[in-house]
Amino acid sequence: MSNRVKQWVRPEIRALSAYHVPETGEVIKLDAMENPYQLPDELATKLAAELQRAPINRYPDPAASELKDRLRGNMQVPAEMDILLGNGSDEIIQMIAMSVSQPGRKIMAPEPGFVMYSMIATFTSMDYLGVPLRDDFSLDIDAMLAAIELHQPAVIFLAYPNNPTGNLFDEKDVISIIEKAEGLVVLDEAYHPFAQTSFMSKLGQYDNLVVMRTVSKMGLAGLRLGLLAGSKAWLGEFDKVRLPYNINVLTQVGARFALEHSDVFAGQAAEIREQREQVYAQLENMPGIKVYPSAANFILVRVLDGDATVIFRQLLEAGILIKNLSGAGGQLANCLRITIGKPEENQRFLETFKKLI
Ligand SMILES: *Cc1c(COP(=O)(O)O)cnc(C)c1O
Repeated sequence: MSNRVKQWVRPEIRALSAYHVPETGEVIKLDAMENPYQLPDELATKLAAELQRAPINRYPDPAASELKDRLRGNMQVPAEMDILLGNGSDEIIQMIAMSVSQPGRKIMAPEPGFVMYSMIATFTSMDYLGVPLRDDFSLDIDAMLAAIELHQPAVIFLAYPNNPTGNLFDEKDVISIIEKAEGLVVLDEAYHPFAQTSFMSKLGQYDNLVVMRTVSKMGLAGLRLGLLAGSKAWLGEFDKVRLPYNINVLTQVGARFALEHSDVFAGQAAEIREQREQVYAQLENMPGIKVYPSAANFILVRVLDGDATVIFRQLLEAGILIKNLSGAGGQLANCLRITIGKPEENQRFLETFKKLI
């Protein structure tokens, strides 16, 4: 590496490896929690007409007010709460971290968890504190409360349901964390369409609680749009570090249009939930693996007999891409994560997988 790069780029950034997204050809894509369905043709045609009129010569509406109104209705954000939009919820995590970062301050989350929490802690020069989940991936509430007491984290992220484990944490445990924490608690409800349970209605009860959602997992991952719901006191500060035009014109038009047809996405989510139950039932009957219950649009499996990495590669050779988590080791040793796809894709996966384990 050039000496200048070494001299100037922070060592903790040099030590990272960039978030790796594999290039894939024609595969059955069950790796990234995407909704497998595209917009129905009739809606796609209408969307094209709306996009045609979109004023891309102008900067976007910095407040994105029309889109926010839609989101407020669709996601049942309480009237007295504010909404902050991000270029994906990843950007919201970053805005929160930038707003609280100071030397020695901590971001805390249960582990295994969503990788962006720790990555963004590093980006913003914060310390990251991962508190191990129990073997069944439930919260180790005593360890969480003790860590809060000891470390006084500025922000705690709780993915609800959790990624990559798929389970919902116990509601009482979550509440005791909110009550114990002096810092902010972010309930990351990225998988809400598949979990159908939420802390959104509890926003008014705790002044250190905010709720984060995204349109990615419901079927609009390509638009890059996430939102944070919470009090004006918190969101007004986070809004100051938001880049002025972070939600582009095409995303504003596209997301507003899509949310006007939320029945389509609700139908797809119901189909995916139904498929999740079927896939789960079939996996449960396969020997040599352990399957974990999921309230999301993916299922975590541990290979008990054999090598998850070998099975992952063999699936890929058969044209099926899932996520291999075994590299992380520890509690994810020999674990694979399978996103729920279309019924025929799930069936292809199950048949191939069964032969390999
Ligand atoms: C996928 C995911 C996100 C990221 O969502 P984007 O809005 O696409 O950035 C956030 N949190 C969790 C837990 C996720 O799994």
